[in-house]
Amino acid sequence: MLTVGFQEKLNVCRSIPLTGGKYFSKNACMKSVKNWDVVVVGAGPGGATASYHLARFGYDVLLLDRKTFPRHKPCGGALSWKVSRFLPFDEKALEYDEIYGAEFTYQGKEPFRIEVESPLSRLVERRDFDQKLVDMAVGEGAAFHDGETVTGFEERDVGIEVTTQAGEIYAAKYVIGADGPRGISARFLNPSHVEPMGVALEEEMVLGGVDIPKLVRLDFGRFPYGYGWVFPKRGLSSVGCGAIYRREKVSLRKAYQEFKADFPFIPRSSRGMKGHLLPYFGDFPYTRARGHMLLVGDAARLMDPFLGEGIYYALASGTFAAEAVRAAFERGGGAEEHYLPRLQKEIVEELRNAARMADFVYPRLYLGFKVLKRSSRLGLLYIRVMSGEVSYRDFNNNLFRTMKDAGKKKLMGFFTKGG
Ligand SMILES: Cc1cc2nc3c(=O)[nH]c(=O)nc-3n(C[C@H](O)[C@H](O)[C@H](O)COP(=O)(O)OP(=O)(O)OC[C@H]3O[C@@H](n4cnc5c(N)ncnc54)[C@H](O)[C@@H]3O)c2cc1C
Repeated sequence: MLTVGFQEKLNVCRSIPLTGGKYFSKNACMKSVKNWDVVVVGAGPGGATASYHLARFGYDVLLLDRKTFPRHKPCGGALSWKVSRFLPFDEKALEYDEIYGAEFTYQGKEPFRIEVESPLSRLVERRDFDQKLVDMAVGEGAAFHDGETVTGFEERDVGIEVTTQAGEIYAAKYVIGADGPRGISARFLNPSHVEPMGVALEEEMVLGGVDIPKLVRLDFGRFPYGYGWVFPKRGLSSVGCGAIYRREKVSLRKAYQEFKADFPFIPRSSRGMKGHLLPYFGDFPYTRARGHMLLVGDAARLMDPFLGEGIYYALASGTFAAEAVRAAFERGGGAEEHYLPRLQKEIVEELRNAARMADFVYPRLYLGFKVLKRSSRLGLLYIRVMSGEVSYRDFNNNLFRTMKDAGKKKLMGFFTKGG
């Protein structure tokens, strides 16, 4: 199901002098251009899921990643239950650890636990999880080139030309940008975007036989707009911290060392600390699709601004983008027309509610911590937000009712707007 437009144009190209005109770059005439229906940039959960569906629908898909797979990805690897809806394989095929609750602390003190009987979430190794998704895409017929970095795009009337560090040029009817918040795709659609990013540090600690409880530990109050975490995994522990939105300047490394010192059970044998940017989802203009390009996952800034959950949103937007491209191929119209309204309805609205919660709670963290500690009902409900069973919208409405009952009327408006 190859796109014909490019080949026709290429034949013309050979016979006319180039002036950097509308259809072809100089490179396109010097190199042989390979045609694809869709080129997907980045083989994380967003890109691999989009490739899986597109290949399943019968399109010629090329999935590119600059890293050689399987690759390490700094991530806690926590999967909420809502992830199941978009996982393209049976969950039993995954190796994961189950978590039965959370222990909360404020600057390492005042611990309290909320435990549940059925698993709150699952923790996976991203190296294996992402490889599995790529295998699914390849199994459906997608071509996968790892170790190939995308270095540029040129928009054409009939699609986009993608150039890579290997000197290749691919002509695609559509490009799905799944290469992270500061990737080349996000910058292509948002060249003058200046909104701040968050930042996270993560390291994997080797447990070496130490048995730690099946709880996630979340420490608040040290990291602006964020928290520190300890996630126990099979033989390893993911330890890290994130400032989801860097409003204040703070030395994350210093705060992180202090945080670790408060948790003596954290093993000291590290596989190395890695820093990573976090996309901030905020109420600012951001282009998620235009013409022949659609952004998914972190590239589309679809990360929960309160908890930092991103895997679910990458899987969901990857699925929606693939379905939008199919709709554009089959029914006509721009892919963005099929993509953006669904994104708005199924993801953006929920993330807006998460942002409302983040904007309210993070500047008043100690109050939020105390409310969670004192109200077992809200505590349990919050745990179910973490597990993906309760939406931010419902949590905010509950919080609003609690505030109302407590007579804190001045706080009410915050949670009713759009909630
Ligand atoms: C420390 C940390 C902990 C986290 N913990 C969790 C958690 O526990 N649970 C959760 O749900 N979310 C978590 N997140 C968020 C989650 O990791 C991301 O939201 C998710 O990985 C986004 O998936 P993606 O497919 O959009 O991008 P990614 O998974 O980041 O994949 C992007 C891919 O693009 C490739 N790439 C980049 N540039 C190019 C280029 N020019 N050419 C070709 N390839 C390119 C990269 O190599 C990479 O493989 C965490 C994030 C961090 C930083």
